[in-house]
Amino acid sequence: MNEAEFERLKQVLSEPKKIAIVTHRNPDGDAYGSSLGLYWFLIKKGHEVTVVSPNDCPGFLKWLPGEDQIEIFEGNQEKGKEILHAAELVFTLDFNAFHRLGEVMAPVMEEIHPIFVMIDHHQQPDEYAEFSFVNSSMSSTSEMIYQFIDRLGMKESIDNDIATCLYAGILTDTGSFRFPATTSATHKVVANLLDKGANNADIYNRIHDVNTYNRMQLLGRALDNMVVLDKFHTAYITLSQGELNRYKFQRGDTEGFVNYALSIKNVMFAAIFIEDRKQKIIKISFRSVGEFSVNEFARNHFNGGGHVNAAGGRSELSLNETVQKFVNLLPSLTNELTMSS
Ligand code: 5GP
Ligand code: MN
Repeated sequence: MNEAEFERLKQVLSEPKKIAIVTHRNPDGDAYGSSLGLYWFLIKKGHEVTVVSPNDCPGFLKWLPGEDQIEIFEGNQEKGKEILHAAELVFTLDFNAFHRLGEVMAPVMEEIHPIFVMIDHHQQPDEYAEFSFVNSSMSSTSEMIYQFIDRLGMKESIDNDIATCLYAGILTDTGSFRFPATTSATHKVVANLLDKGANNADIYNRIHDVNTYNRMQLLGRALDNMVVLDKFHTAYITLSQGELNRYKFQRGDTEGFVNYALSIKNVMFAAIFIEDRKQKIIKISFRSVGEFSVNEFARNHFNGGGHVNAAGGRSELSLNETVQKFVNLLPSLTNELTMSS
C-alpha cells in the first residue's frame, strides 16, 4: 500500500463501519495476536467489529484479551455467514489465500463482496484484496499491524490490550525473537509495545508455561520416532493418530516439536508428519536453515506454502506413503541441501 492508498483507507475508516477480521484455520499466536490487536484498535475508533476464526485456538492463547469474543465459524456457520455477509470491510490477517480458511469457511469468502484488506507476511499472495499491506520480510503479521496503525498516523491509540495482543503475536512468530526475520525494527516495535504496557514476562509465561504431563510424554514419543538422514542433512518426525490418542492430544500440543529436529547439528531441513484421521490428511510442517526454501518445497510437493524457512503442507496419502514420498524427493535436493551447509 502506498501513501495514497493509506489516505483512501483512512477515509473509508473515518465513518463507523461494520467490519469483520478473519484469520487462518488452526490459528497460531500471530493469527490471534494480530487479529485481536487490530480488533481493539478498530473498536476504539468506533467501528462494529467481529473477529471470525475458522476453528478454535490452542489453550495457550485462551487468555488473550478479547479471545472469548471471537466467533468460531465451524462452531456456528449461520452466525459466521451472517457476520461475513453484513461486513462492509473484511480484513484478512496472517494468510493470503482463501483455501487457508478450510473447506467450510473458504466458499463463503468467495461469495461476499466487501472491501477486502489483506495484511500479511507470507509469500505469493492471491489477488482478492482492494488494499494489500503485504511484506514477506516482516517477522509477523502482528508487527505489521503496529506499522499499519503507525502509517494511519494513530500510534497514540495503542493501549495496553492492543500492545499485549501484538506483543504475543510477535513473540510467538519470531520464536521469542530468535528467527532471522527478527530485525532491529522488530525490536523497536517491541520496545514501544512495552512502553504501552505489554508485560513481557507475564505474556511469555502465559504462552509457554502451560505444559501438561501428556504433552511431555508425546514429545518423548516424537523424539523417539525421529529419523536423521545425515547424507541429506535432514531430520523428520512422525506422529500417528494412535500415538496422539495415547497421550490425549490437545490442539497446540505439537507446536514447536519440529524445531527439535532442526536443532540437530548439521541438519538443514526438518519435517514433522502428523496424522489426522478425522480430516483424512497428514498435516506437515517444514523448517530449514539457510537458503533452502521450504515454501517452494511445500508448494511444489505437498499442497502448501509459507515462508523460506518455515512452511506447512498436507498429504492425502497414508502416513507411511507420505514419508516415503518425502524421502524419495531428497536425492533431487542433494545440491541445495549440501550447498548451504
Ligand atoms: P506451521 O508449520 O507452524 O503450521 O506453519 C509454518 C508456516 O507455514 C506458517 O507461516 C503457516 O502460515 C504456513 N503454513 C502452514 N500450513 C500451511 C498450508 O497448508 N498451506 C500454506 N500455504 N501455508 C501453510
Ligand atoms: Mn504469522
